[in-house]
Amino acid sequence: MLGEVLAHLCAKPNTIKYPFEPAVVEAGLRGKIKFVAEKCIGCKICVKDCPADAITITKIGDKRFECVFDLDKCIYCAQCVDSCPKKALSVTNEFELAQLDKHKLRFVFHAPDAPPTPPAPAAQPEPPVAKTA
Ligand code: SF4
Ligand code: SF4
Repeated sequence: MLGEVLAHLCAKPNTIKYPFEPAVVEAGLRGKIKFVAEKCIGCKICVKDCPADAITITKIGDKRFECVFDLDKCIYCAQCVDSCPKKALSVTNEFELAQLDKHKLRFVFHAPDAPPTPPAPAAQPEPPVAKTA
């Protein structure tokens, strides 16, 4: 008995002193969702499948979509990630998201800038009209 007590006293603890030292994040943790606007086609399957009504997709231009996540609603199920046909959504291992102000849990992913409009082609000169006698 005494030997076992001494062994446990000398053993490395199984716990860590979080938050005073970094947490060990296990692979596969479902943390904050990330959106890559360049991949999104605006199908809104993620919106339909989200059980928490936490996603808003808005078309803001030609093939340009903005995404808003309300993480105060999100339950981190990652259903949206599984549902997205274009892999525009992914999970990160970011989990330290607690806030007193819920408005800070609204994350807006802006669409990339619209491509510049190509210059209009230069006007071609009119072909000369043949004179009739
Ligand atoms: S499911 Fe994917 S591609 Fe479709 S709107 Fe959501 S993020 Fe965009
Ligand atoms: S992780 Fe789940 S709850 Fe959160 S936005 Fe995606 S589908 Fe909705």
